Formats: sequence, C-alpha cells, structure tokens
Amino acid sequence: MTAAAPPTEATPARQQAAWEETFRYAGKHSRFYREHFARAGISPADKIPLADIARIPPVDKSVVCQQPDEFLCVPREKIVDIVTTSGTTGQPLLWQLTDSDLERLGYNEQLSFATAGFTAADTVLLAVAMDRCFIAGMAYFLGLRKLACGIVRAGPAAPALHLDMIRRVRPTAVVSVPSFLHHVAEKARETGFDLAAAGIRKAVCIGEPVRENDFSLNRAGQLIETHWGAKVFSTYGVTELAASLCECPAGQGGHLHPGLLYLEALDEAGQPVPDGQAGELTATTLGVEAMPLIRYRSGDFAAIHRAPCACGRTTLRIGPIVGRKNQKLKLKGTTVFPSALKTILDTTPEVSTYAIIARRENDLADTIEIKISCSGDAAKISAALRERFRGEIKVAPHITPATAAEIEELQLPPGARKRRYFADLRH
Ligand SMILES: [Zn+2]
Repeated sequence: MTAAAPPTEATPARQQAAWEETFRYAGKHSRFYREHFARAGISPADKIPLADIARIPPVDKSVVCQQPDEFLCVPREKIVDIVTTSGTTGQPLLWQLTDSDLERLGYNEQLSFATAGFTAADTVLLAVAMDRCFIAGMAYFLGLRKLACGIVRAGPAAPALHLDMIRRVRPTAVVSVPSFLHHVAEKARETGFDLAAAGIRKAVCIGEPVRENDFSLNRAGQLIETHWGAKVFSTYGVTELAASLCECPAGQGGHLHPGLLYLEALDEAGQPVPDGQAGELTATTLGVEAMPLIRYRSGDFAAIHRAPCACGRTTLRIGPIVGRKNQKLKLKGTTVFPSALKTILDTTPEVSTYAIIARRENDLADTIEIKISCSGDAAKISAALRERFRGEIKVAPHITPATAAEIEELQLPPGARKRRYFADLRH
C-alpha cells in the first residue's frame, strides 16, 4: 500500500456539502426529522456546520424501530429492496432502500474492499447469506462486482461446499463471520485438507471481534491466520447505515468513508468521548435516499482514532467493537462490557472453559458471577483471576469453579442456536 490517498476519499468540503444536502433533504421529506428539528428549535433554513451537528439531538435505535415509516422519505414505488436486521438485540428493524441506495451500498463496499487491497485479480469466497432479508451478503456482492472480482456465493452454511469450491476454484480471499471460518477449518482438518496451503490470502471478518483494543489479533483472529494461512481484516457494518468500515493491511481499525458517513462516539449523556476511548458509535448517513439517519445512536461501542494510519489514509478509524448497549454492565460505579471480562478469561491458560452470568441487583448495580472449569488448583486460580480483574477492570467478580458439563449447559441452553459465553439474566 502506497502513501497516496485513494481518489475516492472525500475532502472535508465535500463531506460538509453532503451533510448540508442530507440535512435539507431529511427536513423536507422525513416526517420524523421535520418534527425532531422543530422540537429542537432548528429551522430547515439553518446553516449547520458539521462541527455544530451536536445542536441536533441524537436518536435512539428504539425510536427508529417503533416508527420506521416516519423516517421514510420516498413513496412506495421508489423502494426496490426491503431488509430486516437480524434481531439479535431487541426488536428486528425493517429497512428499505431505493435503487440509488443500493448503488451507494455497493460503492461503500467497493471502497471498503479496496481499502483491504482487493482488486479484479481476486476471487472471493463469499460465506455470507445473500437472502433471508440480510443486507450484508448483497452489499458485499455489489461491492466486489464493482471491483470486478470473481465471486463464489457459497453462503454461510455448508463447510463441505466451501472446501469443494476452494479446491476447484482456488479463491484468493474469503468473507465470513469468524466462527464459521473456524468451522470450515475444523472440517478441513477432519478431511485431511491443507487449508493454509490452499491460496486464500485475505480473510475479511464480520460480526465477531478478531482484535483486542490495542489492535493485536485476539485468539479467534490468530487461529484464522494460522488455519487459513490468510491475513485477517476486520470490517464493521450496520444495516441501517448501509455503510461499513473495513481495515487496511495495517490492521489499525476500520477506515471511514467520509463521503458516505459522519461518525461520533458519545457517552451516556450524549457528549463526545475523547478519541481512543470507547463511546456509543453515533452516525449520520450521507447521500441516503429512502431512510436517511442523523445522529443515530447505533448501540455499538467502540473507540474512534484520528491519527493518520500507516497506510497513508487520514480518514477516521474505529477500534474493535467492545460491546453493545444492552450488554453494558454496571459494576460498583463503573461500566464494563462482557468482552473485557472475556478477554481476561481467554488469556488465562489455566481456564479451559467458562460462562459469565449477569444478574440485576438493583437499578444502579449488576452482579457478575463467572463459572470456570480449570486445570490445577481451582482456589488458587480463582484468586489469581480475581486479582487480574481488579487490576485490569477495577472490579473483581465472583468466581465459582464448576464442571465442564455444568458450563456447557449454560453456554448451550435448550433451543440455543449459538454457543454463548455471556448469560444475561437481568431482564
Ligand atoms: Zn490504514
């Protein structure tokens, strides 16, 4: 990667112009924003520099979930694609896109994959759903197509098909959630297939963290690099923003495309947090036709970094997602995400498996119990762990030794589709 900035990178002047257009457009066509601006004493004729965007109060995801049609700026005949969020958190959200929004979605992914170094010479195994009302698979397809990559739409469900296509097509890259990549690697091992030598050099990972806050690879990221012989790139996307931030080869956080999105990180009171500290990612979409969003609190927490990247880009980057709003734990006056607890447990070699259990003590405080199965003296290991928690996150949760079978039951309760390390019993 050379130091030259890509030609598509928007200048601050272009970003400001795109914002002014979004503000004018939403104020005119979105019932919600018309009333929202009026309530905040803002006239559609106002000139608001991006630096003063905080004059407009942020909007919570729950507001959009309850009344998505209030955000719709176009008549029904302009809509070409209707998707829904996966509903892993709260109420699934219905989202609509026009032809121009699909074009913007593809352009965004074109920029994201180009950031990760994809070119027309790449053949990409797309292990992401194209259907079931998800936006991601289609977005990736549109972006890769714009880059003229070869695309193998294998989907997210059949490791045997993936291995077969890897043998026959020799793709150079894969796009997937990390847990599925582990699954395919396991299948390869079982069948004696040398995945690391198969020629896949880039693995774009979505939906699950592959890095620690200092940008080093976490255990999941390291395993992917080892088993796939591929460089890991983390990408972050949100359906409602129809945008993604993907890492460059320097692996220092996902790069923002400033012509398509304006991003802030806010604390609970709606104030910006200092760069490098995790805050709620709050986004303003630029150039969206059907459902533009202004200061939308995504519910995802991550740190923003503004120092120029080693790749030469000067665009804002985001660090790993440290957690979601509804996972936030209130412990003895501090706020902690389960991911911080998980990082400590994952890097304690004596702990073979664990489950984190959250309970509500009262409105202001939660309690945490961690059940661990370990090799060696359980009392000693628990005491050492408590010390690590106290040192690294300032609180020491209850730690209870348990059998691997008891923990398995907590991780995979009846009806669970996915193994969970965090059991939230607060609701
Ligand atoms: Zn970079």
